[in-house]
Amino acid sequence: MKILVPVKRVIDYNVKVRVKSDETGVDLANVKMSMNPFDEIAVEEAIRLKEAGAAEEIVAVSIGPEKAQDQIRQALAMGADRGLLIKTDDVIEPLGVAKLLRKVVEEENPELVILGKQAIDDDSNQTGQMLAALLDWPQGTFASKVEKSDGSLNVTREIDGGLQTIKINLPAVVTTDLRLNEPRYASLPNIMKAKKKPLDVKEVSDYGVDIAPRLEVVKVTEPPRREAGVKVESVEELVEKLKNEAGVI
Ligand code: AMP
Repeated sequence: MKILVPVKRVIDYNVKVRVKSDETGVDLANVKMSMNPFDEIAVEEAIRLKEAGAAEEIVAVSIGPEKAQDQIRQALAMGADRGLLIKTDDVIEPLGVAKLLRKVVEEENPELVILGKQAIDDDSNQTGQMLAALLDWPQGTFASKVEKSDGSLNVTREIDGGLQTIKINLPAVVTTDLRLNEPRYASLPNIMKAKKKPLDVKEVSDYGVDIAPRLEVVKVTEPPRREAGVKVESVEELVEKLKNEAGVI
């Protein structure tokens, strides 16, 4: 089985993002960028399936700027076999990404696509679902466990109040939840080896799909600042404030 793993270049999760003063977006200048954390989990899962003998090849694909090669190289250093960058400096919405990924699936014929459940920059949680719909493939979203049996996958999903296990036939789309696995760190020798692994670079125009934005960002603002708390003298005063000021009881 061949596995395709889309990896997105996003602002590192440790960075405190700054909103631009004109409220058009967040400031990306001199900000540390990394692989989307849910995509690291997706790469790890693909590698584990390969190590268990359930997959032969892992292809990591990213849609983004030239520098997104760094994130593909990270996937290669972790254990992916090949990389593909579809180069663009434009912001591409989940529908555009899903349309491009469909084309890649048609070219590469993987049996499984494992994506992150969401990108931590746009928090869309849409790409995997849209890709499954475009391909007319079954989907197992928010996976916390993936097991392959003949021609199908058992996917355990984190849902409200418990775990649901579904059986989906391959080919299929899976999206990863946080508890699926703990991604490995790439060792130095593997980072060196990854530099020699094949990485194809293509342009969005090579795929002939309409990726024009459908959404307009009206504005991006900072969350409201948390106000300082107050000390109360007695339980009576606390109850009074909860009733009359906070209005929560
Ligand atoms: P989203 O729907 O934007 O929250 O993203 C969900 C998942 O889709 C991510 O975790 C990635 O696996 C994949 N994805 C989204 N955008 C891209 C991109 N530009 N390049 C590669 N993969 C992407």
